[in-house]
Parts: sequence; structure tokens; C-alpha cells
Amino acid sequence: MTPEAVVYACTCDFAGKVRGKGFPATDFEKRLKRGIGWAPTNTQLTCFDLIAESPFGALGDRVLIPDPTTRVSLRSEEQDIAEDFVLGDILNLDGSPWSMCTRSILKSALERLHQVAGLRLLSAFEHEFQFTSNPMGIGQAYTLQGLSSRRLFAERLIGAMRAAGLGPDTIMKEYAPEQLEVTMDPAEGVTSADHAVILRQLVHSIARACGETVTFTPLREPGGVGNGVHIHFSLLDDRGAPAAFDPHSRYRLSKMAGQFVAGILKYLDSILALTAPSVVSYGRLTPHRWSAAFNNLGLQDREAAVRICPVSTMSDIEPARQYNIEFRAGDASASPYLHLAAIVHAGVQGIEEGLAAPEATEEDLALLSSDELHRRGYIRLPTSLPDALARFAENATVHSWFAADFPKVYRKHKEGEMRFLEGMDEDEVHRAYQSVY
Ligand code: GLU
Ligand code: MG
Repeated sequence: MTPEAVVYACTCDFAGKVRGKGFPATDFEKRLKRGIGWAPTNTQLTCFDLIAESPFGALGDRVLIPDPTTRVSLRSEEQDIAEDFVLGDILNLDGSPWSMCTRSILKSALERLHQVAGLRLLSAFEHEFQFTSNPMGIGQAYTLQGLSSRRLFAERLIGAMRAAGLGPDTIMKEYAPEQLEVTMDPAEGVTSADHAVILRQLVHSIARACGETVTFTPLREPGGVGNGVHIHFSLLDDRGAPAAFDPHSRYRLSKMAGQFVAGILKYLDSILALTAPSVVSYGRLTPHRWSAAFNNLGLQDREAAVRICPVSTMSDIEPARQYNIEFRAGDASASPYLHLAAIVHAGVQGIEEGLAAPEATEEDLALLSSDELHRRGYIRLPTSLPDALARFAENATVHSWFAADFPKVYRKHKEGEMRFLEGMDEDEVHRAYQSVY
């Protein structure tokens, strides 16, 4: 008897969890047509496993069809790594996309961008995470020593990323204790979100192989330093030429990119429940911690929700292709698919509405009174998950981007997640999230 390779066909769901079913790798081709069966109520599995109220009950069937371009198959006995999985779409039995399938939701947002503006999205996810094993303590921020202490992990990760088709870009010891940051090359459309899902899986898997544990939780403890997921993006026209950059316009934002960013900022308070969807996300989204507390655009300002990144004249890459915009108000408790879909829909809405390009702020908005903020068109972003869910629930425009049943099911999911935390104190809540992300 010899062991047989098993492929896990997965979705990355409302909880940002990668869930699926396995089958013998020899059936891979067949499974591309047949898929694997999926119970609709699985979508209400919260990050804590507790099943939130589900309109589907025990009824119904969907099918998860793997996308072979996303297959990751890495095996190294020497490195103690065995990963074999493929991502896919959850479809109704007639082949139409299921309204709760996060990957299909992103695809439809990208289609809308193309239909409305003739544009494609190029994006890259930047991840921060922290080791929860073998703490080194303070004094390591950005240090070589900090990276050296995790060099084996870092080098295995870079190798695994390359083998999985992700373009490794940088890896560094970030500011917080035991925190690393890893960035990767941009990819088009749904692929960059696929890469984010794969990256998280690889980080956990390689950490385990190195005898370590990691967490992507947005915040490990009240008042601590956050783990953000920043998304860098730009736009391409149908010929693949950069379309976000215009050297002659303000901030070098093309007209459509300006409208796109204005849409993100206009709808930011109502999409936060999708991009920063955990209870502890809101301890991270507070002023003076290099995350995002207001709906503002900044030029190279790491406190802005949306930041225009620098362009260097020394680079081998032309300015138009370097130029990118960073969305900072999200974290890894979000499914990368929903995270990106929310940004794209808000951006396209801005294009449809013909919004004016925003003014970039150059000051600390936390110092302004709420009247002054209001006068200048800014708001303090929701400060809790219930507050963010309420904004999401109230915004009919945001609802119109999704299938009619999505917003309610999503809200019920998040309510179920919060129910699991009832009776816990703040530290326990943070520990609970640390243990599941
Ligand atoms: N850790 C910060 C966050 O929570 C980001 C720091 C940075 O990379 O600018 O988003
Ligand atoms: Mg960082």
C-alpha cells in the first residue's frame, strides 16, 4: 500500500477561511467538470466554527468547481512540506455563479469595471503577520537580526511562493514584535486575490514545518500594533497600458483613477464590514498607528485610508507602471475576494457617478473637531464591527452591487461570529482571533 496524493479543492469564504474537500489527485481532470459538492450552509461557518443563522438550513446543494490555474502542488520531504490544493468557484447546479461565492463576487466586480470603464485591475496584496512561537521580544524592528532569526522560514517561504507561481517581492522584519511583512508582484484580476489566499496558506504551512506558529489577526492585544493587509492597485486599459497615471493631472491621477479613488472614499464607511470584518479590526483602525481612521486620500501618508505610492526616477520601471494606489483599511480577517470586490465596486461606482478626484490631506485629521471634519467632507470611520455592519446595512447603493440575498446572509454570518465572543473580556476576544487567523 502506498500513500496517494490528495488535492483539496477550496473556497476562501466570508470568514476568510480556506475550506474545501479533498479527492485523489488522479481524479483531478474529472473534478474540473464534476467539482465537489458544497452545502450552502457552509457559508455561515464563522471563523470560530460556530454556524451563524442560515437561511439554507440543511437544504440544497452547490458545486465547487476548481480553477486549475490556481493549483498549488508543493512537496518536499526535506522541508517537511506537503501542500496540494486548488481554488475554485461555487456554482449553482446549472453552472451559474452562486450569490455567496466570494470568488464569483470578485469576478462580477471586475466585469463591472470592464463594462463601465473598459478597464482591468492590476493589484498586489501586502501582508503583515506575527509569530506566536519563540518570541524574541523588543528591539528587533526592521532589523537584520530580526529577519535572521527567521531566515530559514523566510527563504523557504520565498522558494514556495515562486514554486506556487507567486512573484516574491520583499520580505522584512516589520515594526511590531515578531512581525514580518511580505509583498508580492502584482497580478491581474482575480489572480491577485488567489495569490493572497495561497500566500496565507503557505505562511502557515511553512511556519509549521519550521516548528513555529503565526497569526494574521488584525490585532493581538488591545493597544498593540496591527497586522494590516494593504492592497496596491492600478488600472490597465484593454491594450494592457497603464491607465491610472496621467503625468499632467493633479497627483498624476488619471481622470478615471481619480473617480475610482473618490468612489472608494465615498463608500468606505459602508464597505469596511467587508474589508475589516472582525471585532478586533476596529482596534487597529484608530489614529496614529499607521492604519486608517478616516476616509481620506494621502500622498505617501501611511495614516491615510488610501495612499498614492511614490514613483522613483531611478527605477528601471517607467513611472506609469510604478504608479500605484494603496488601500490600507483592510486586514486578513477578510476574504481577499470580498476585500478586493468591495474596493472595485466602490471605485466603479465613483466612475459611474463621475465623482471629482479627491483632495489629498497633508495633516493629522485626528486633530480636527467632528464639525471641521464634516465641513471638509471627511468622516471618522466606524469604530466597531456592529457600527460598520450598520453602515453596510443602511447603504442601498452598496447593496445594489451584490445579489439581493447576499447582504442579509453576510450580516447574519457576522452576528453569529460576535455571538461566539459574548461574555469574553477584551483580552479573550483578541486571543480568540489570534488563534483562528
Ligand atoms: N502595521 C500597520 C497596519 O496595521 C502598517 C504599517 C505599514 O506597513 O505601514 O496597517
Ligand atoms: Mg507594513
